[in-house]
Amino acid sequence: MRDGFSDAAVAAALLPWYDRHARALPWRVGPEALAAGERPDPYRVWLSEIMLQQTTVAAVKDYFHRFTTRWPTVTALAGAEDAAVMAEWAGLGYYARARNLLKCARVIATDHGGVFPDTEDGLRSLPGIGPYTAAAIAAIAFDRPAAVMDGNVERVLARLFAVETPLPAAKPALRLLTERLTPDTRPGCYAQAVMDLGATVCTPRSPACGICPLVTMCTARAQGIAADLPRKSPKQAKPSRQGIVYLVERADGAVLLETRPDKGLLGGMLGWPGTDWTDMPPQDAPPVAADWHDPGLEVRHTFTHFHLRLRVCLGRVAQDAQPDRGSFHPRATFHPASLPTVMRKAWDVAAGAWPED
Ligand code: SF4
Repeated sequence: MRDGFSDAAVAAALLPWYDRHARALPWRVGPEALAAGERPDPYRVWLSEIMLQQTTVAAVKDYFHRFTTRWPTVTALAGAEDAAVMAEWAGLGYYARARNLLKCARVIATDHGGVFPDTEDGLRSLPGIGPYTAAAIAAIAFDRPAAVMDGNVERVLARLFAVETPLPAAKPALRLLTERLTPDTRPGCYAQAVMDLGATVCTPRSPACGICPLVTMCTARAQGIAADLPRKSPKQAKPSRQGIVYLVERADGAVLLETRPDKGLLGGMLGWPGTDWTDMPPQDAPPVAADWHDPGLEVRHTFTHFHLRLRVCLGRVAQDAQPDRGSFHPRATFHPASLPTVMRKAWDVAAGAWPED
């Protein structure tokens, strides 16, 4: 930050900006409503923060609406069937979040009387709530002066102070800056103000410094390097893995699905039976005896740590077929939308390629 500005000047500039420009988000209580005495619902804040991990606001909005319509309180969510929650989460990715979501809801319902702890420490003791999420919920839901850091906050602070150390090595320094700047007055609004500034003004490629409330304080802007920050360490190339999935249709139209093991990728989600995903060419391992059809279909999908290429094999079986794994789901109750994205892609590419009866 440029000389001549105190730490307090940042909040003093940002809060009035936030009062005028806060994003309207379905889980948020805006500054006007807050001033009128309305308070955020910790359940909605928590749910949004879990959904927003690794995911954009645009991608989360529909999911958030469906979840809060179906399960309007944490107690309602705690009473939900695992399979129903996993199916609603399908397509949002990072499925461990959904499993932890349920665990956390149940701990709150049974051990905390359905009431969220209102401190960072209390929140961190819950399943699936790490330091970032605990700080965000403490600040946004309970107006605690917690230091909230997400990608938007990192970018704004790296620019404001012209931090040239690449991420992720710069994170500890940025965290200290966040702690320094977080005010005791309206800390929840402050945290959301920095996030909103990063999302709408101090954007990754072309920061709109001309309309930024921090422009006079910003070192990167003064040095002409705003768009170059934050620097990032070069990413390592992702390895590739391969596998096969088997799409099976029974004579009555039912499809063969299995619930993936709780531990591991897509844990607890429904999917097509298939081979392990490894860096070696996969060995055939069909889940049921069938006249298998390999139409040369392939699905490509990228996970956080690897690229995946899945061969899609198709088979039709008789009504009395006995699979080695998985179970048949009637076509009337099978919704491709309840599958994780990579499994849905396999279903989509198979359309029109099924062998004749
Ligand atoms: Fe970001 Fe520009 Fe504002 Fe600095 S002046 S915080 S670079 S938008």
